Amino acid sequence: MTKKIAVLPGDGIGHEIVAEAVKVITALQSDGLDVEMNEGLVGGSAYDVTGTPLPEETLTLARESDAILLGAVGGYKWESLDISVRPEKGLLGLRKELGLFANLRPAILYPQLADASTLKPEVVSGLDIMIVRELTGGIYFGQPRGVRTLDNGEREGYNTLVYRESEIKRITEVAFDIARKRGKKLCSVDKANVLECTELWREVVIDMHKDNSDVELSHMYVDNAAMQLVRAPKQFDVMVTTNMFGDILSDCAAMLTGSIGMLPSASLNEKGQGMYEPIHGSAPDIAGQNMANPLATILSVAMMLRYSLDEPAMADRIEKAVDNVLDQGLRTADIYSESMKKVSTTEMGDAVVAAL
Ligand code: NAD
Repeated sequence: MTKKIAVLPGDGIGHEIVAEAVKVITALQSDGLDVEMNEGLVGGSAYDVTGTPLPEETLTLARESDAILLGAVGGYKWESLDISVRPEKGLLGLRKELGLFANLRPAILYPQLADASTLKPEVVSGLDIMIVRELTGGIYFGQPRGVRTLDNGEREGYNTLVYRESEIKRITEVAFDIARKRGKKLCSVDKANVLECTELWREVVIDMHKDNSDVELSHMYVDNAAMQLVRAPKQFDVMVTTNMFGDILSDCAAMLTGSIGMLPSASLNEKGQGMYEPIHGSAPDIAGQNMANPLATILSVAMMLRYSLDEPAMADRIEKAVDNVLDQGLRTADIYSESMKKVSTTEMGDAVVAAL
């Protein structure tokens, strides 16, 4: 049956990078990929047309699709809007409405780009980590929350870290499954020595290991995990953690690679439906100049084929094609170094299509 992809370019460079990803999907369609693409508005460009960053029409399109390809949202133009209609609300609304609880953020450093990292090439070359972050629970959503005034007149801010066993189980299940398909090593990150909530997290993960004993399980406190990511990142295969710890650690891991324009991500719900997007934003500073790196978005399509469309061989083809264009020395401005060939957004997209 034909699978449906909702294509939501968003704002800024979103339009340019998604156009290149669509070229790649179109090329695969002529090789037998049975998908249909439908475009929708999200973010600031949706606000301009409809007065909301997440129009009902887009939400319906997203709900009815097997996967969503998102560019990025946001930009200077919309910064002074009320927070309730800012472009970012479109993205958060999609995550919430679709129940996208599992955020998969690979941090891969292509050996060809080892010089792009601020860390020594021998520490990061060949790095390939997958961080699985819980995305819809934890302290970012826990109640009660707020700022209150105490009897003595002093203000106090408070948030609640809360996880139900079922929430821990479903994210851990995703992480074990992914680890099984990769290096078969899972590190669960918590702060079980201080936080009861993550003590429960650790207990549940240990319990689930009984049914997943083919995967090697380890545990690490989050402070140590941050240190180890910078000290010896290649020790990790898959990491699973809470919403807030994952937010921080995945940015840290991404930056080990030094190239924000190269990293894809996926957010999945219980039905396997997923939203796929580059980890970077809408880069208003370079929008419209045909110089953004489209590879993170193209690699997001590879994740889509693997995790939502059940086409792992096509996913492999895209990843090999990206490897191939890097081998050819083609570089957009963000990853350019001397003696390489500088190319535009569209030239990079065309090169990937040719390498497919
Ligand atoms: P950003 O990721 O857009 O840009 C950071 C820097 O990286 C900029 O110098 C930019 O030019 C560069 N960059 C980003 N992607 C690139 C690419 N593909 N190729 C080459 N260079 C690239 O982050 P920011 O500047 O903090 O935010 C800009 C806007 O994007 C803001 O409105 C922010 O809210 C939004 N944002 C959206 C998302 C999202 O849609 N998921 C994520 C982060 C930020």
